Amino acid sequence: MRISGGQVFDLEEGFVLREVCTDGPLIAAESGDGETLDASGCYVIPGLVDVHFHGCVGEDFSDADPEGLQRIADYELSQGVTYICPAGMTLPEEQLTAICRTAAAHRAQNAGGAEVVGAHLEGPFLCEAKKGAQNGAYLHDPDAAMLQRLQEAAEGCVRLVTLAPEQPGSVEFIRAAAEMGIHVSVGHTVAGYETARAAFEAGADHATHLFNAMPPFAHRDPGVIGAAFDVSSVLPELICDGIHVHGSAVRAAFRLFGKERMILVSDSLRATGMPDGEYPFGGQMIEVHGNRATILGHPETLAGSVTSLMGCLRQAVSFGIPLADAVRASTYNPARSIGIDGRIGSLDTGKEASAVLLDPKDLSIRAVVFKGQRM
Ligand SMILES: [Zn+2]
Repeated sequence: MRISGGQVFDLEEGFVLREVCTDGPLIAAESGDGETLDASGCYVIPGLVDVHFHGCVGEDFSDADPEGLQRIADYELSQGVTYICPAGMTLPEEQLTAICRTAAAHRAQNAGGAEVVGAHLEGPFLCEAKKGAQNGAYLHDPDAAMLQRLQEAAEGCVRLVTLAPEQPGSVEFIRAAAEMGIHVSVGHTVAGYETARAAFEAGADHATHLFNAMPPFAHRDPGVIGAAFDVSSVLPELICDGIHVHGSAVRAAFRLFGKERMILVSDSLRATGMPDGEYPFGGQMIEVHGNRATILGHPETLAGSVTSLMGCLRQAVSFGIPLADAVRASTYNPARSIGIDGRIGSLDTGKEASAVLLDPKDLSIRAVVFKGQRM
């Protein structure tokens, strides 16, 4: 396929007018067939990569339902999110094991939809005070043996685990996770600067939804946010749905961390792509009004978003983030954060040919190409 006439995202230069050729599932120097996709006037960006979301279209990854995961994968692909690393929650080990097995079976079956490139265990290794919408009954101290069991159930598919590093045994846990090929993300935490910095220096290299479920950045007490800034290997996530983080904080975070480090995530719930109402989430109920989802009866406790990652990208642009920076934060940076940027995340020759054509007026989707095939 030859995708021609579009402004193509480039990691170094932003957008450049050039062609993208595909040969089979990969980007190539020459087109492998006679097919042409006219991208005149469009932006051509890599397929998005969401490393932190729970579900959509009525389904939740934590249900461990194979058909539900397939519906999630299909919906995400339709939204231009071509690679997904769905997140579990704070649940009993038995249920986490079922979630991990479901992800492994889904990968083995390869039945279409967005590719599941990993699983994110957002819990149970969190702290009570910042558990947010997670169920406190199932919180657990850091436990590398449990993580190993879950990684085995997932057949190596776990790529990210969120950790509150003030919990006992965190540094040993971080080192053990690295040996299992799992990146550790600091989040749902009350850790101060020194504790967070020690975790990052031990190898944690990701921060779960920066600003949310962690202490604020204060001038004498800079906390996780200051520690993440000071350790340059750390890539922070931001939920840019217009609800979780104020536009000014989004602009400040991009300026502080730079376009090389920011990751946009959706943190989307099963209500994404569904009407307003009440929905189950991690053993609790949430209520959804517009793009705001909260714990039922606790309108101050945000439960996650109901915006897909493509919606978050558009929101970031509306907040004043340059399009190229928002694209990088939704593609290459999240791929890098789980170690798969050699295969996906940019439109360079040799990478998978997954791209989205966006209308320049409103960034709506004109076409999705997934591994060389027009969807
Ligand atoms: Zn969370």
